[in-house]
Amino acid sequence: DNGIGSWTTRRARMDPHGVAFVERGRALTYLQIHQRAERIAHVIRARGVVAGDRVAYLGYNSTDFIATMFATAKLGAVTVPLNTRLAAPETAYILQDSAPSLFIWTGPFASIVASPEVTALGLQTLRVEPGDGESLSELAGLGEGESVDDGATGARVVTSDEPVELPDLFMIQYTSGTSGRPKGVQLTHGNITWNVYNLLVDVDIRSDERSLVVAPLFHTAALNQILFPTFLKGGTSYIEASFDPAAALRLIESERITTLFGVTSMYLSLRQQSAWESTDLSSLRSALSGGAPLPVPLLESYLERGLMIIQGYGLTESSPGATMLRAADGVRKVGSAGSACFFSDTRLVDPTGADVTVGQIGEILVQGPNVTPGYWHQPAATEVAFTDDGWLHTGDLGRLDDEGYLYVVDRVKDMIISGGENIYPAEVEQAIHSHADVAECAVIGVPDEKWGEVGRAVVVPRSGSSLTAEDVLAHLDGRIARYKIPKTVIIVEELPHNASGKLVKTRVREEFGTTNA
Ligand code: AMP
Ligand code: MG
Repeated sequence: DNGIGSWTTRRARMDPHGVAFVERGRALTYLQIHQRAERIAHVIRARGVVAGDRVAYLGYNSTDFIATMFATAKLGAVTVPLNTRLAAPETAYILQDSAPSLFIWTGPFASIVASPEVTALGLQTLRVEPGDGESLSELAGLGEGESVDDGATGARVVTSDEPVELPDLFMIQYTSGTSGRPKGVQLTHGNITWNVYNLLVDVDIRSDERSLVVAPLFHTAALNQILFPTFLKGGTSYIEASFDPAAALRLIESERITTLFGVTSMYLSLRQQSAWESTDLSSLRSALSGGAPLPVPLLESYLERGLMIIQGYGLTESSPGATMLRAADGVRKVGSAGSACFFSDTRLVDPTGADVTVGQIGEILVQGPNVTPGYWHQPAATEVAFTDDGWLHTGDLGRLDDEGYLYVVDRVKDMIISGGENIYPAEVEQAIHSHADVAECAVIGVPDEKWGEVGRAVVVPRSGSSLTAEDVLAHLDGRIARYKIPKTVIIVEELPHNASGKLVKTRVREEFGTTNA
């Protein structure tokens, strides 16, 4: 058994008293997180969860969530982490699609769980108190300090009947898509493990690392680019429920944080804090970023403070690392997302599938042991996502310089990245269309100082209706996540079409992407 569930056992055996996590000032050793995971495995097994079953989890970042993920893995079951920002119908869709045998949720999400869409699914649910570390263990009927196994020797009591192996599924992470419906990206124990190896080749994570986890753990980056590598090396991860820039700066200084992962908008907002200038950042050795373009002026403003933001490029489907800029190249290759991770390969191809030459723009393809075997229950979507010889289409455009460094330049897929969250226009357009007075609509991304990009809807009302921008926004409230709701809505008489009557998105962008709304 070399699945991710065994990591707590192995760490507890190697380093029982090392501090694995700090949450709201409370330290949790490797032995304690191991014991908690074993107890939770007890609880969820008693609820009937067996190998292959899905366990969905809805909550902010917490050590409970982390322990539950390890516990689920120990049973050979599959974690489905739910995005805390989604509206009830969106959450219900993912729950329906993944069909978990247990849905674990935390207090702040009571209204989602009680929504008609979610209750209609009739799932077995389990409520845990957010941040109350022992709540799930208590359900196992065990007191503090009591344990179901001897973590110090690694003897395990709770195990699945079958050992967990690298090709087994560890997680299903939902990402939206051009079809407008989210797809479950299947990630195996092996995918995640190889991604951690990739990261550890490029980033010097040490056993005395103090890593700050402020990005949401339901997304791939915080979990796989910082938490798991730190865990494997025996360092300490500071778990923040969510991102609070002022609190993050205080923690960096007071806890002498050494590694940080953030998306572009997080680095922007750290810099805007009044405490920015006076905060001591000297402990930081690595500041990692990914998931969105990183503007060079932002990079330069961090360099002025002696800090290099290391850019990686990747996607949920590749667990997520595909390329990484090594620290030594940071200044020389500013703006580049680096080159392929050690165990992975990238290629740039033209629309015919032929490799492009140096300096030419092409679609980025990725291959490697960190790449998903495909989408959950979606063989057709999986088929189109890969080339015949097994390379993953990323839908992103890039170019390589003469030394093979990647510059991500654009996207072929119709996607907006707003503060690190992806927005697929098709999904938003569908939601707008469900308003009876909408004849046609198009959603595009427009540049935004704070979020990188935000959505803009251009809407044609049905003739005779008096539809307003406010009506459209009110209609979207509660239907889709707040971050997906367009910042601006423009009401127009018509949208641009081609000769066959098809909406031409590029012309919508040209006509409405730059005007002030
Ligand atoms: P996700 O699956 O949420 O991780 O989103 C992956 C997408 O984020 C990629 O397909 C890219 O469009 C975008 N992305 C990731 N890393 C970068 C980067 N370094 N620069 C520009 N875009 C990026
Ligand atoms: Mg992203």
